[in-house]
Amino acid sequence: MKKLEEYVRSIPDFPQEGIIFRDVTSVLEDADGMHLAIDTMQDLVKDLEFDVVVGAESRGFIFGAPIAYNLHKPFALIRKKGKLPCETVSQEYSLEYGTAVIEMHKTSIKPGQKVLIVDDLIATGGTTQAMISLVERLGGEVAGVLVLIELAGLKGREAIAGYRLDSAIVYE
Ligand code: 5GP
Repeated sequence: MKKLEEYVRSIPDFPQEGIIFRDVTSVLEDADGMHLAIDTMQDLVKDLEFDVVVGAESRGFIFGAPIAYNLHKPFALIRKKGKLPCETVSQEYSLEYGTAVIEMHKTSIKPGQKVLIVDDLIATGGTTQAMISLVERLGGEVAGVLVLIELAGLKGREAIAGYRLDSAIVYE
């Protein structure tokens, strides 16, 4: 049986020179890899109490939805600007170049609900911070953040200090 990290393909110089891109398509395209990824992530939060799983477009959906399904919890979507049909809250955040906006339906979270945020990867933590902000503006309480991969050198853990972060694989 392969270890979880062995399913992750590392692509040097993508999307630009000097960056090692951690590719999760190679995890998903292997039935054992996908099972191991979801099971490992789910196991990390087995002691955590939460009411709803939140995932961000698009890879957050892939890992968040099966965990919500397995645990019989609702799954709420964070999408890129302009995709959600009902009333939304939106949050701008910084990317390496420029900014992006993510949105969530105002009805996705009820005040006081405990939320598990799921994504494929945390790097600088900017995306996660924006997700936390959306959840909290809707009155949700972030119970934890769960990712498949943490790029520790980019200090996302520090960017969201005070929140619980569980990661299945850590790269320095
Ligand atoms: P952050 O906002 O923490 O700097 O970046 C995290 C976001 O960028 C995640 O939503 C993730 O999908 C994407 N990302 C950044 N670097 C990588 C990488 O090496 N591999 C993958 N799969 N996604 C990345």
